[in-house]
Amino acid sequence: PARRLRRSNFHCRAIASPPRIVPAQTKLWIDGNFVDAVSGKTFPVINPCTEEIIANVAEADEADVDLAVKAARKAFDTGAWTKMGGRQRGYHMNKLADLLERDAEEFAQLETLDNGKPIFFSRAADIPLSVSHLRYYAGWADKIQGKTIPTGSEHFAYTLHEPIGVCAQITPWNFPLLMATWKIAPALATGNTIVLKVAEQTPLTALKLGELIDEAGIPPGVINILTGYGQTAGHALSHHMDVDKISFTGSTEVGRKILQASAGTNLKSVSLELGGKSAVIVCPDTDVDQAVADTHFALFFNMGQCCVAGSRLFVHEDIYEEFVEKAVAAAKARTVGDPFTQVDQGPQVSQEQFETISGYIQSGIEQGATLATGGRRIGDKGYFIEPTVFTDVRDDMKIYQEEIFGPVMSIIKWRTEEEVIARANQSQYGLGAGIWTKNHNTANRLARALKSGTVWINCYNVFDDALPFGGYKMSGMGRDKGEYALSNYTETKCVITPLENPAWL
Ligand code: NAD
Repeated sequence: PARRLRRSNFHCRAIASPPRIVPAQTKLWIDGNFVDAVSGKTFPVINPCTEEIIANVAEADEADVDLAVKAARKAFDTGAWTKMGGRQRGYHMNKLADLLERDAEEFAQLETLDNGKPIFFSRAADIPLSVSHLRYYAGWADKIQGKTIPTGSEHFAYTLHEPIGVCAQITPWNFPLLMATWKIAPALATGNTIVLKVAEQTPLTALKLGELIDEAGIPPGVINILTGYGQTAGHALSHHMDVDKISFTGSTEVGRKILQASAGTNLKSVSLELGGKSAVIVCPDTDVDQAVADTHFALFFNMGQCCVAGSRLFVHEDIYEEFVEKAVAAAKARTVGDPFTQVDQGPQVSQEQFETISGYIQSGIEQGATLATGGRRIGDKGYFIEPTVFTDVRDDMKIYQEEIFGPVMSIIKWRTEEEVIARANQSQYGLGAGIWTKNHNTANRLARALKSGTVWINCYNVFDDALPFGGYKMSGMGRDKGEYALSNYTETKCVITPLENPAWL
């Protein structure tokens, strides 16, 4: 039943009608079939808006991981995908993109139901970006090529870029389908086979994708999709001796475990996209209204659950007061509520995430930051948190140093360029950064000085399939997206032969 969200000054929409969509698929996709877990176990998937169970989904563990890896190995070794040739692979990938586009509305509703993101964003961002990503890499599939390299001797030498083999891919819950396509698209284009383990909080769209794989003409075993917990299924996958490569997106803590698993087993190749604590720097010469709007988006997009969330917002002292007033007003103007209605913000993804964020808000208050707005729960059902802004944030505070992954903005004052560069770089992370200025020289100096995998200037959260994405320092290893990601999924073979030799006829 519809009811008002309570305990908040925020303008909140009522939780409207029950979810419109029922997930059709709850089983594991292994070797071209939907199957129950070997153990027969399932786990509940929770609607973050109502805290009700959406579905019970198969719970993969070591035995299912083993079956999926065997299927991927068989598909790789028989060459069903690899030897098909790049052009044909590209054809099937485009077909998968077409089918995803055909069913886009269903995917968008499932994503919102599962993750809690406003339906507008699922429709306008997550699903179309996933379609586009598959198409982008379909275009690469017949352009995976090596080089002819001149040698210092009378030899002919060339390189081949070959698929690595069985790729394990482990993804998070913040952009469930999009993160899955960021992983599978480059791996498919380069001729690998895949075991994808999606986040336990949000497994539904990946399972729905499983329904389309066969229809797209992708052979059995090329893509296998597992739902299950990190400590069991994820652990088994990262330790599996027959996995050649593992690509992971998630927390730095688990990223470290993935690297240790590789080191302790078969030294499988590892790429990691991890956490962030992105510094965004607003210079005194900037258009304040524009910077307020952009930095608001940088932090609050996706309920703050973005690895590049602009969570350390450095504002120059000359414009600090004006900026804070406008940033607080922008936060207060956000609408929060049922993600199937027209709101800016839905619930956080899970009870656990809700509690983590609430803990950070509490620590900000206790450590003496000024709570300018927000800070409380909204309602008593669903994981809703008020858009929150802290000012007077100091570098020694937890909310400054650690990734919050929630709708909590921290505004920090700066004075000199040298000082702000040093403070921005004083972080274990280096994923995203932003600069707002009207001065080209300032922008160029800052962009080069910041230790960050992405630097946006006078914009934020601009993602394009062709642009590499990843982190410096403890934000990761390797790059997703673009031409750069192809190297994550290929081995380079060097072939050398004499130009003239009696062995040649
Ligand atoms: P998480 O690391 O807890 O989980 C991510 C995935 O890893 C899930 O599928 C989970 O089941 C699995 N996992 C958990 N423990 C595991 C283990 N021991 N072995 C193998 N797999 C295991 O992270 P999360 O809470 O789901 O996601 C939030 C984090 O992800 C944030 O820190 C965020 O910054 C990061 N993130 C990074 C990017 C990026 O591109 N750099 C993108 C999205 C999210």
